Amino acid sequence: MRKPLIAGNWKMYKTPKESLAFLNEFLPLVRDHAAHDITLFPTMSSLGYVIEAVKGTNVSAGAQTMHWLNEGPYTGQTSPTMLASISCTHVMLGHSERRIYANETDDMVNWKLKAALAHNLIPIVCVGESQEKRQSGLTEAVLNWQIACALNGIRPEHAGPIVIAYEPIWAIGTGSVATPDQVSEAHAIIRREVAVRLGKHSAERMRILYGGSVKPENIAKLMVEPEIDGVLVGGASLDPHSFAQLIHNSV
Ligand code: PGA
Repeated sequence: MRKPLIAGNWKMYKTPKESLAFLNEFLPLVRDHAAHDITLFPTMSSLGYVIEAVKGTNVSAGAQTMHWLNEGPYTGQTSPTMLASISCTHVMLGHSERRIYANETDDMVNWKLKAALAHNLIPIVCVGESQEKRQSGLTEAVLNWQIACALNGIRPEHAGPIVIAYEPIWAIGTGSVATPDQVSEAHAIIRREVAVRLGKHSAERMRILYGGSVKPENIAKLMVEPEIDGVLVGGASLDPHSFAQLIHNSV
């Protein structure tokens, strides 16, 4: 009932030329793959090119961030209207690297989420605890807080497109992937909090992805867990063969 989503977060990698070279190799490798939704998140400078190149394929593309307003004197920002105008379909919100390096707050994630829904963009809302919070036994408190803030004021009838990505900060780019048990436990916490905020029906429909050092070698063990509805992949999404392998290994 929840179609799994495999997303590639390219972070600040790949020029337009490199992005198109990736797609030349990658698209044929996953052409017949219908078991998962596949979405790539290139940098803003490559996004338009990638959107054009994936048109008519089983791969979609999204932005790594956006502003919540439609226009204004905000140097360096891109608005939801602008993303929608180039047929962008997805947007990532509140990635921990945005929270840490661009001071994105829980309130901002909430405003962006509302803007994404208003513009028919599929939002992937990233949440996750730091090593320190986990060691202090605060994982559940952090996740509940981030989910409660992100969903504040969202009505259940508008929540259908929302995707959550559980990305523990200690697992991102470190090579230390969370265990399937740790992920399932965190996803269950998130789903419970979604149910509190939006009701059981929305919670059961919502896709919850895992992200943090996912590789072709560890994807299968994660995807067998019923609570895990897909993955958000950083490093291992940069090489077309390795990312295609990861996708094939996840069935
Ligand atoms: P990683 O990054 O797969 O390189 O750990 C995941 C992410 O930041 O989305």
